[in-house]
This record gives sequence, C-alpha cells and structure tokens, in this order.
Amino acid sequence: MNSWTEKGPGRKKCPAAGCVFFVGVRARVCACGQAFGAAKSAPRRHSRFQKRASDPDDNGKEPKEDRRPVLSTPSGRCPAELESTEPDAVQEWVTAVRAACPKVHLTNRALRYYLRQFFGLFTDEYTVVAAQLP
Ligand SMILES: [Zn+2]
Repeated sequence: MNSWTEKGPGRKKCPAAGCVFFVGVRARVCACGQAFGAAKSAPRRHSRFQKRASDPDDNGKEPKEDRRPVLSTPSGRCPAELESTEPDAVQEWVTAVRAACPKVHLTNRALRYYLRQFFGLFTDEYTVVAAQLP
C-alpha cells in the first residue's frame, strides 16, 4: 500500500478526520484504516470528453462544403419556365430552378437536363443557354 504525507499526481487525500495521508487514487484503504467506497474509485484518465476537447478536428466550425445530395439527372417537369436564351432570362431561370430545389444541389448537368425540355438537345438555343450556365 502506498501512502504519502504530501499531495501529488495520482494521489487523493484520505477523507478520514485527522488523517494526514494521501493515498493512490486507486487505493481502497488508507494506512490509517480508512476504507474508500467503490463509488469513489479513480476517474477514468482517458475519457472520451478529454479526447474530444483536444481533437484538432473538433473546432466547432461548420464545414463549408455543400452537403446536400447532388442531383444531376432530375425527373419530372422543370420547376421554372425558361423564357428566352437571353443572359438575364437564363440567370433568372437558373436561380428559380435552384430555389425550387433547395434540398439538393443541382449540377450543371441537371440544368442542361432541364434545358432539353425547352430546346432540343444540341440545338442552337440549347448550345447558347448551356454556354451561359454557371
Ligand atoms: Zn487515512
């Protein structure tokens, strides 16, 4: 049994009245005869909380990447009408389509997929609009 009269790392003060000893944190009984209950057993030295607190990845910042599922082959009708091939109309259309699908990230491929509902694939109009996609 180890006991000390000075505190130190890995030692705990004996709770017995008048006892001057410090014992190892895992000790079950002091030199004075004081017994330590099981409930006062040593704390876990490598708790998950300690590890998390020093985890360099756990800095509390939100990741910048878009974590929404990617949608590149949408189904159904395009949620917004494309009025013309003019740049302003195209930008409005892209904004409207993406606003209509807030839970997914629409890829440019998805936008081109929708374009086919307005213009035939590889028509002049399709090519003009596709070139303006972000
Ligand atoms: Zn003691």
